[in-house]
This record gives sequence, structure tokens and C-alpha cells, in this order.
Amino acid sequence: MTGPGHAGAPSAGSALFVFAEQWVSSLAWTSYVPMTRVERHSTLLGFTERLAAALVAEPFVPQVGYDVGAELVRADFAAPEALGATVQFLGENLRDAVGVGQWSEARSRTARLLGALTTGYTWALRDRTLDEQEAIRAAALVAREQADDALRRSEARFRHAALHDLLTGLPNRALFAERLDQIFRQAAPGMRIGLCFIDLDAFKVVNDSLGHHVGDKLLVAVAERLNGLAAESSQVAARFGGDEFVLLVEGSAGTEDAVKTADRAMALFAEPFHVDGHDLSMTASIGIVERAIDETDTTELLRAADMTLHWAKTDGKARWTVFDQERNIREVARYTLAAAMPGALDRGEFILHYQPIVGLARGTLDGVEALARWEHPDLGLLKPDRFIALAEDSGLIVPLGLYLMEQACRQAAEWQVIDPQRPFVSVNLAVRQIRQPRLISDVAAVLDRTGLPPHKLQLEITESAVMGDDPETVVRLRDLAGLGVRLAIDDFGTGYSNLAYLRNLPVHTLKLAGQFVDDLRHPRRSVLPSGNPVPGATQEAALLRILVTLSHTLGLSVTAEGIETLEQAEILKGIGCETGQGFYLGYPTRPDDITELLRHPSAGGTPALC
Ligand code: C2E
Ligand code: CA
Ligand code: CA
Repeated sequence: MTGPGHAGAPSAGSALFVFAEQWVSSLAWTSYVPMTRVERHSTLLGFTERLAAALVAEPFVPQVGYDVGAELVRADFAAPEALGATVQFLGENLRDAVGVGQWSEARSRTARLLGALTTGYTWALRDRTLDEQEAIRAAALVAREQADDALRRSEARFRHAALHDLLTGLPNRALFAERLDQIFRQAAPGMRIGLCFIDLDAFKVVNDSLGHHVGDKLLVAVAERLNGLAAESSQVAARFGGDEFVLLVEGSAGTEDAVKTADRAMALFAEPFHVDGHDLSMTASIGIVERAIDETDTTELLRAADMTLHWAKTDGKARWTVFDQERNIREVARYTLAAAMPGALDRGEFILHYQPIVGLARGTLDGVEALARWEHPDLGLLKPDRFIALAEDSGLIVPLGLYLMEQACRQAAEWQVIDPQRPFVSVNLAVRQIRQPRLISDVAAVLDRTGLPPHKLQLEITESAVMGDDPETVVRLRDLAGLGVRLAIDDFGTGYSNLAYLRNLPVHTLKLAGQFVDDLRHPRRSVLPSGNPVPGATQEAALLRILVTLSHTLGLSVTAEGIETLEQAEILKGIGCETGQGFYLGYPTRPDDITELLRHPSAGGTPALC
């Protein structure tokens, strides 16, 4: 038997119409469907009709169920709950709605239709899920690309800001270093490179007197000129900070190439810079380094350039200077030595040698000058010309000087035990020590600790130290003299040589610089108006005689330094010079030798002068 026929669209109130409405209700809340209830009803009514038709059709085609299942999903009834509700609802009600509840085959046909529907539904849902996943993946991909792009753009902006100087727009130190690294990594064998480190000479003056905004504009103007020069010869100009710039001479052929660049950079400063209504005439100093790339590295190259710029400055500015390996070695040695000094002081490597100061009238050992020596573990015994200036620069001279003074006083106090009459010890004071307000109390404490009578200590100061414009110095010298200490002017005649000024100072002794004594060796004879030489007189001796007489008039005694011959000693003795010092009278020597000399005054060492 066949099922009942079916014709015409179901009208409101018809069994299929009502069935579709109930189907809509059974699906309520199972899934989100972007349709009005009427639209949903109309959709499900369409499915109902197709299923109803299929149920009774001959031949029976279960595929309709499959299609309806798939379309349910496409219509957004797309949750497992919606499938469950549909299967249950159709299973219970479809046959009755179609009016075949009694038809025996209807049950199995319904079952097969629902089976096909479930399959169609499931495949469609799976496809849809895959599509959704794919869409999500694609969207994620696009989003990531967009994000990467934005990041790249902001990174590029950030990188540019980080690698360029904000004021002048030139590459900054970081970018320059990067470029340099790159050149070094990629350099062909034998390739050379040059650097010109450029520093404005009086930029600070502009900044301080005309203000920072003028300073800034000047820097921009300088940067423009340098950049123009670099661009002409496809070099790189960078700003290293402050008023320091650098030109990179890539692939230079030799030092001359770098020098040429430096010359052209110098020429940029020939014209004044017009800034804010000012005509600023500027000069620059340039340090030049030029090397084969495989003989250096970036750090060393930059350090050398920096060092050379420093030389250009100390050599007098407004010039270029080329790196000089020997000078570098010297400076590195100086630096190494300076760095080793504090440790050496702690380890007691600084000692004193003592040079006799001899009474010229009778050849007596009146005093000794304490001369610093450094017993360097590797370099041996170093003379003060290797380290005193370094100590002055670093300030170490203050503790070192005090340490040596204490050593000298302690030694002199021991010698007093052997011969209470002599000798005094003469200690050199550096300018920096005299500038210390603590000097007086330090000296007093040393005398106190060592027990040396104050008048057995002589302090030597250079002319330049006392002639300076520091009013405190005079006060300090008076205070020193107030302690009972003797004061001597060292190397007199090499500086300002202002005897009149010395009258105001509490000085006891003048030490005539060795030069005066040395000049005695190359005498120009004094001549009479007749043209005949004055017997036994030379201009040099005459000058010394005047100096000594003048000193005596001022109440100062005189020590002549650098006496190397008997003749010199005799002349100085003849013109009334009290004491003398020099290789002829005794070399600087270890304290034990002086002790020996004091114990056995006639045993040699100091030549007998009379
Ligand atoms: P200075 O104070 O003029 O010391 C005399 C220097 O002349 C010593 O050199 C000495 O060895 C040298 N000399 C002595 N007799 C003769 C001679 O007949 N002919 C020649 N050509 N030279 C002679 P030294 O020991 O190398 O000291 C050099 C300088 O170092 C000293 O010159 C002094 O300015 C400084 N100095 C030495 N020790 C100290 C110290 O403890 N403190 C400070 N601040 N400076 C010191
Ligand atoms: Ca001296
Ligand atoms: Ca001297």
C-alpha cells in the first residue's frame, strides 16, 4: 500500500503548519538563530513539507533527510541540542502530522529519514566547524601580520630615534659603533679605515655666554657642514655627544687620506657660523687614527682616536694630530704607573735617598736633601721625574708627600743622636701640598711624632708656588715658619725670580738653580772698557756674586745646586755662598751611607774643600 497523497501548501491551522510551529518551539533555546520566529517557522515549515513528502514518496529516498539535516545547520540550528530535540520531535510527531500513523512502513521510513538527517546534520556541522576554525586561523594570521607590521613600523621609528642624535639628526654613537662593527666584520683583507674625532675648542664659552639655545643651533650648523663634507665623499659623519663629532673614512688608502679629510674638516671652520644674529668664529681640534682593519679592533680604534683628540687639545687646540704609537706607549706607561702608585704607597715602595748639603767654607755636612725614589718591583729604582708629576696630577702627592716627610724626619731624628749639631733635612713640598689648609697641623704632627726639632726640618718650595695669586699661601708659609721650620725657595732663577717679593715671605734660604752653576763651565770673560778681560772674573761668576750679595742683603742664606766640579765649588765658596749641593759634593744616596758619613766624617764621600 502507498501512503496518502499530499497536495497544496499547508495553511495556518493545517496539521503540517501546526507541526512546524511545535518544531520551532521544541528548538527554542537550543541554539542562537539570527531569525525572527516567523522566519524560523517558515524555514522549518519548508523542511516539514519536504520530510512529509519524502515519508510517503515512491520510491522512498532517505537522502531528503540528509539534505534537511545539512540545511538545518546552515540555517543556524547548529547545536547538538538542536539535533537531539529535532530527532525526538520528528520521531514522535512526524507520522501523525503527515497522517500515516497507522501505516506499517511509516515507522521504518521515519527511522531511516531521521538517520539520514542525523548524518547530514553531523557532516554539515563538522564542515561548518572546520570552516569556522579555518576562518579563525585565517583571521588570526591577518591579525598577526597586521600586528607585526605595526610593530615593525614602531620599531623602525624607535630604532631611528635610538640611533640618531635628536638635535642634529646625525647618526649617534650607537649607530656609528654598529656601522663600525659591520665594516670590521665584512672587511676585505688589507682594507683600511680612518677616523677623525672632532671637538669644538671653545663650545663651552658659547654655551655659557650666549645660552644653550645658541649653543644648540651652533651644533646643528656644525653638523650640517660636517654632514655636507661627509656626503661629498660618501663618508659618514656622526655626533658622539656634546660638541664631539666623528668622520669615518672608510677604505682609506693610508694616513694621508685621513689627514686630507681632517684638513677639509678644519677648512669648514674657516668661515664663522651665523647663529641667532651672532657671527661665531669657531675652531676645532681633530684626532686622526688610520689603520689596517685586520691590525686593530673597534674598541682599540675608538680609544686611539679619543686619545689622539686629547693630544690635539693638549698640543694647543685648533689643529689636527695624528695618532703616534710611541707617544701612546709612553702615555699608557705613565697611566699604568699612575694607577700603581696608591698600592705602592701602601706597600711602602716609596723611599728616600739623601743628598749632602755641604757647608762650602769648611766642607761640613750641614744638611741633606731628601729625594724621593720608587723601588718599583718590575722597573727597579725610579727617579722622581717618572712619578712626582703623576702624583701631583692625581693628588696622591698629598699623602705621599706627608709620608715621605715623616720618613725624612724620623731619619733625621736618628742622625741627631749621632751628631746633635747637624744635619738638617730638607724636604721638597709640592704646590698641592702647600694649598692644603691641613699642612700646618700635619707638619706639626710629624715633628711631634718623630721628635725632630723644628729647626732641623727645611721645607723646599718652588718659586712658582709662592708667586701664585693665592693669598692663603703667604699665610700658610708664615704659619709654617711659626712652627720653627726653615723655608727654602727651590730652583731659584728658573721662575719669576722676584727677590723683592721674597722680602715679604718668611724664607730663610735660596737654592740657586743648577743652571747658574752650570753656566760657570762656559764662561764669557768680563772685559774692561779697554777690551782686556777682568782677571779671574767671568760674567757668570759676576751674576752669581750679585745674586748672593743681594740674598744676603735680604737676610737669606744661599745654597748652590748642581755643583759638579771642584772649580765650581771654589768659585761659589769665593763669592760667599754658604752651602752647596751637587754630584761633586755627594750623590743622592741611601740613608745608611749618610749615617756612615756622619760616623766617620773624614772617611770620604764629601770632598774636603779647605
Ligand atoms: P730638586 O728638588 O731640584 O732636586 C735636585 C735634583 O737634582 C735631584 O734629582 C738630584 O739628584 C739632582 N742633582 C743633584 N746634584 C746634581 C748635580 O750635580 N748635577 C745634576 N745634573 N743633577 C744633580 P732627582 O732626585 O731626580 O729629583 C728631581 C726632582 O724631583 C727634584 O728636583 C724635586 O723637584 C723632585 N722631587 C724629588 N723628591 C721629591 C719629593 O719628595 N717631593 C716632591 N714634591 N718633589 C720631589
Ligand atoms: Ca729640591
Ligand atoms: Ca732644586
